[in-house]
Order: sequence, then structure tokens, then C-alpha cells
Amino acid sequence: MSVELSVRGLTKIHAGQSVAALDSLDLTVPPGSCTAILGPSGSGKSTALRLIAGLDSPTAGTVHIDGADITGTVAEKRGVGMVFQRPMLFPHMSVLDNIGFAYRAAGESRRRSRERAREYLDLVHLGDIGGRAVSEVSGGQAQRVALARSLAGSPRVLLLDEPFSALDPVLRTEMHDLVRELRTSLDQTLLLVTHDQQEAAVLADSVAVLIDGRLEHHSDIATAYTRPSTLEVSRLMGGVNEIDGQWDGTGLHRSDLGELRVDGVTGIPAGPAVLLVRHELIMLGDYGVRGTISSLRPTGFRAIADVNVGSTTVKVEVAAASSVSIGDAVALTIPDGARFVVGQ
Ligand code: ADP
Ligand code: MG
Repeated sequence: MSVELSVRGLTKIHAGQSVAALDSLDLTVPPGSCTAILGPSGSGKSTALRLIAGLDSPTAGTVHIDGADITGTVAEKRGVGMVFQRPMLFPHMSVLDNIGFAYRAAGESRRRSRERAREYLDLVHLGDIGGRAVSEVSGGQAQRVALARSLAGSPRVLLLDEPFSALDPVLRTEMHDLVRELRTSLDQTLLLVTHDQQEAAVLADSVAVLIDGRLEHHSDIATAYTRPSTLEVSRLMGGVNEIDGQWDGTGLHRSDLGELRVDGVTGIPAGPAVLLVRHELIMLGDYGVRGTISSLRPTGFRAIADVNVGSTTVKVEVAAASSVSIGDAVALTIPDGARFVVGQ
């Protein structure tokens, strides 16, 4: 049975610090779902996970599993597993004994511990290297062992603190596939820390954005891309078009792009405001906002075109093989779902 993880008002002021590394975090991870905490370096992501795991104690606030307050419970009794950026395996033990460590520590025989560990070895597709010393496995394999070791403890909640950020892109993609597979087979409640919006998009159901210890945004992934709460959230989600202009307070934004209707904006008073436009969703066509291509930057199969509109530049993702060139006059179609307005 999957459990719900929640934190209420979770706050940490580290010893010797005057500002909170984590400031009144409220967050709920529904049973069997995965939430990604996204934020720049130093925004309090690891602090949040350490408080949830019980590796550190909060200055204020509480941690709950299925509503039960576990803030005072020692780490080993919380049923919370954690995987870190570095695998932190026991170097003198085999792969299998690393995975079965918790069983041995709980008093099980070596044989029985290895039997139980083998199941998790298979789960992470390392079935044939159980007997190997951990010093002889690759970085990607070591991180799989670390994942298996955490899962072998049958955690109610699994916390992942940037566990794939040290791996090369191919291995990282393999780990993403593995986690997606495990999510299907184990129905595990997961909280993942990452600074990579794409990793969040691949693995998580929702994204919680931390900036300077504060939760600035929490929504499903698609909403975080197209309707970010603030400019900083937009940048973290890979947004590149920030168009200065005036917001009328009811639904119209005026800028070099003209007068554009933007629906669903709340809490932005009339006055200066920034129009956000996802570069991936703009289309080049025959009508719309007129401009001139001033540069083209290839990104592989795609390219980013800079389109000058008045004194504003709009970035547009186009197919690299498309027939546009620098100097071309183009028209931009900006779909309703690609527009949003935030304060400056
Ligand atoms: P992130 O994981 O998002 O990079 P951290 O949670 O590690 O951020 O750190 C958040 C802030 O708290 C940073 O300013 C960091 O320097 C500070 N910090 C983290 N751990 C400690 C500690 N043990 N003592 C003092 N300051 C800390
Ligand atoms: Mg960290």
C-alpha cells in the first residue's frame, strides 16, 4: 500500500545562519506519485530531504506519513529511504551484501540476506554482478546498487537527492527508464530533487519549485512549463522569452508584439508586466506577429531562431532543416496556451 507524504511549515535555520535554508514548506506527495523538487543550487532542496529523512531536525514544522506525525521519530524508524548523488556503498562488501545490508543488520543470516537481496538486484537489472566487489562496478552500476539497497529496506517513501546528476547522458537516460519502470512495478511514493527541468518532466507527476528556501510554484509539469508563477520559475523551466510590456489587469498585454489576449492570469495588478511565450510552441506562418530573423542557432535537429519584432527579440524553435534564413521576414503564430503573464 502506498502512503502519502506531507510536510507542514517545514523550516530550517542551520546553525550559525541567520536566514532560513528552508522557509515554511508546505507540500503533499499523494500515495504512489512522484513529486520533483526543482531549484537552483543552494535553494534548500537537500535540506528539505534531510529533514524528511530524519537526518536533521527542523527549526519548525512537521513531517507526516499518511497523516501521522513522524517529526520526532528517529531516521531508522521512519520507513523513509534515500539515495544520494554519490552511491556511498560499503567498499569492502560485495554488491549483494551491500543490498542485503539492512537484513544483516536486522539479524538475518548471511544466506537469507543474500536471497532477499537478490530480488532487488534483479529489479535493477544487475542480476549477474551480485558477487562482484563494489570497487569493480561502474558508476552507473554503483548508482543502481544504491537504488536497490534503498528499495531493499522496503521504504514507505523514497527520497532521491540528485542521484543521476553525476552520470553521463546515456547512463542518466537508462536510470530514468529504470525509475519509470520501478514506479510502475512498486507503486512507490517518491520525492525527487533535481536542478534539471527535463529530469523532472521525465520522472515526476508534479513539480515543486524552491527558490531561496521558499516554495514559489507547485503544479503538474505541463502547467509549470506554460503557466509558471514567477519569472524565476519560468527560467528554471527553460523559458527564454520574457517580453516587457503593460498588463491591463483584465486580460490584455501590450508590448512590441502588439495587444495579446492572455487568459487565466490572476494576482497581477495593472501596470508593467512580463509576457512569457514558450519558444517551443510558437509557429512560423503566414499571419500573426511580423518580424525578421536576425540569427539562427542550431541545436541538432532543431534550431533557435531570433526574430526581431520592433526592439524586442523573440526566440522561436524551428526545425533545423526548415527553409528559413537570416534576414527573412516571418509571421509568428503564438497559440493561446503558449502565453502567460507574470510580474516583473
Ligand atoms: P541545495 O540542495 O538546494 O543545493 P542545500 O539544502 O544543500 O541546497 O542548502 C541550502 C542552504 O543552506 C545553502 O545556503 C547552504 O549553504 C546552507 N546549508 C546547508 N547545510 C548546511 C549546514 N549543515 N550548515 C550550515 N548551512 C548549511
Ligand atoms: Mg543539494
